[in-house]
Amino acid sequence: DTAPEPRVALVTGAASGIGAATARLFVERGHRVVAVDVDKEGLVALEELDGVATLVGDVAEEATNTAAVRLAVDRFGRLDAAVLNAGIGGAGPLESPGAIERFDRLFAVNVRSVALGIRAAVPALRAAGGGAIVATSSVSGLRGDPGTWGYNATKAAVINLVRGTAVDYAAEGIRINAVAPGGTETALTAAQVADPHFSALITGRIPAHRWASPREQAEVIWFLTSPAASYVTGVTVPVDGGLSAN
Ligand code: NAD
Repeated sequence: DTAPEPRVALVTGAASGIGAATARLFVERGHRVVAVDVDKEGLVALEELDGVATLVGDVAEEATNTAAVRLAVDRFGRLDAAVLNAGIGGAGPLESPGAIERFDRLFAVNVRSVALGIRAAVPALRAAGGGAIVATSSVSGLRGDPGTWGYNATKAAVINLVRGTAVDYAAEGIRINAVAPGGTETALTAAQVADPHFSALITGRIPAHRWASPREQAEVIWFLTSPAASYVTGVTVPVDGGLSAN
């Protein structure tokens, strides 16, 4: 009997939080993983796992995306899934100095990177006979969360970038979806989680009354890349304890 050959995924923002949990889950379930991040130190723990290749780079640059796909194909022979998860928060108050420069950088890291990632991954997915892409949006892309106007805009852009590209590539068996995490305990939210008053304010608004773990996000990302989701494309799945339903 022939065991199914390992599937190969690339995960951006893999050094921390949701990306790290996703890379680990995929490895646990038999995938080979190309882990991409700007944070070289943060990738060290993943390098110790079997079946992981790491790449240090900025996902807002085209060269990082093409190098990540090339690494998957050179090292592991193919690419089946791309998890375009790297992201940064906050442009600060709209009227604060430098807000628009930070807004431009937010768009480059949170949105441009997704367009570049899809563009780089599609030829390899096509060569593999189809595949799946999952981007990380946010509940903030579905709402007007206070104080994060710039971030909200980038995450809303991801939702429609996924819709449009999903429509364009569906006939080729390339599925493109997103998750919209609610408050999840990662480096991005560490300060909020650590502040008891602020944390209670946030969890008070979430119907589930708690933060998500990175693993709970990774499980839905896993599902969206899996054959179980073979007819799902162009959607953004909230993983938010009911926040966006409320
Ligand atoms: P995190 O800070 O723990 O991890 C993000 C990772 O992305 C870090 O390792 C960071 O180094 C990397 N990164 C940042 N900029 C990069 C760049 N230019 N190139 C390559 N790598 C880069 O945060 P997280 O919470 O795990 O965030 C992952 C994704 O989830 C982000 O897109 C974030 O916007 C989204 N998200 C998070 C939450 C939450 O509550 N934590 C909620 C909604 C959406």
